[in-house]
Amino acid sequence: MSIERSGFGKTEQGEAVDLYTFRNANGLTAKVLTYGAVIYSLEVPDKQGHFANVTANCASLADYETKSPCFGALLGRYANRIARGQFMLESQRVSVSLNAGPNHIHGGFRGFHKRVWKAEPVQGDDSVGLKLTYVSKDGEEGYPGNLVCTVLYELNNKNEWKMEYTAQTDKPTVVNLSNHAYWNLAGAQSGTVLDHVLSVNADQYLLADDALIPTGEIVPVDGTPVDFRKAHQVGERMGQIKEKQFGGGYDHCLVVNHQRPGDLAFCAKLKDPQSGRTMEVFTTQPGVQIFSANFQPSLHAPGGYVYPRHLGLCLEAQHFPDSPNKPQFPSTELKPGETYRATTIHKFGVEE
Ligand code: BGC
Repeated sequence: MSIERSGFGKTEQGEAVDLYTFRNANGLTAKVLTYGAVIYSLEVPDKQGHFANVTANCASLADYETKSPCFGALLGRYANRIARGQFMLESQRVSVSLNAGPNHIHGGFRGFHKRVWKAEPVQGDDSVGLKLTYVSKDGEEGYPGNLVCTVLYELNNKNEWKMEYTAQTDKPTVVNLSNHAYWNLAGAQSGTVLDHVLSVNADQYLLADDALIPTGEIVPVDGTPVDFRKAHQVGERMGQIKEKQFGGGYDHCLVVNHQRPGDLAFCAKLKDPQSGRTMEVFTTQPGVQIFSANFQPSLHAPGGYVYPRHLGLCLEAQHFPDSPNKPQFPSTELKPGETYRATTIHKFGVEE
């Protein structure tokens, strides 16, 4: 197992960005950028042993800075939406950036996905890892409290990619961290994921309004196109989704079934029938935003490939959107002296 560092250029502000390459004993290769804590690529074998990168990436650092729809990136301080960018915290009104029309999304104009993280390689017994740290200043994008945030990325010989998040604050704040990789198990440059087969361990999902703000109602998935308790093709029932609300595809938050809140539970399984590649997701997080890239990104892949609409599927394990305004949802508040923790594991395999 090994981890190596190389340069990936400088940001517009002149900050140096590195690319770390992880390899396990089975030949799996993961690449991570210190910009946005981005998973740049993950190369895994198909049923014939052929390797391909299964997560979408950009051709240049400049594209990550200006055009990327959060490809592979870590989302924070608050992944997903906060209605009107406002909420009450300990009797104080907090106003965060409005970067999604009248609402807030993915931490604001310069969320954690647009920050350069400090990196420290970590060698485990059966894994190779990288600990990335970002210190978000009190008042950044409107959020109260200096927040020290870390993610430990690990690749092990069981072909698992592990993401372990922590955060600590010096003032009460809210935290919701996630990852926004667009998975395509046929290979990131091989068309859409409409024929991928998905199952999700979720009996319920969140109703949302036309701006994708949850109404607060949590309802059964029964009889809806988000019922993935039995496996379905991603594209099979998309026609039943309201075009206006969800852009004609999946952009829904499902409630992951947990035995106990915060235990590591099976979340989802994605399979590409052609290559036989599979990916199972396990998470401690209460929800998963399923997003089927309902737009064509205005950038090209490395080598010039043009990404189509539905180029990948995001399985964003996270707390529910707009939790700071929904007391009935699991809390996203973090107080001084507490540690926020969340873990998500992606396990890669093959099936006939
Ligand atoms: C959201 C989408 C959004 C995408 C890119 C997803 O997490 O649910 O609505 O378009 O991120 O920001």
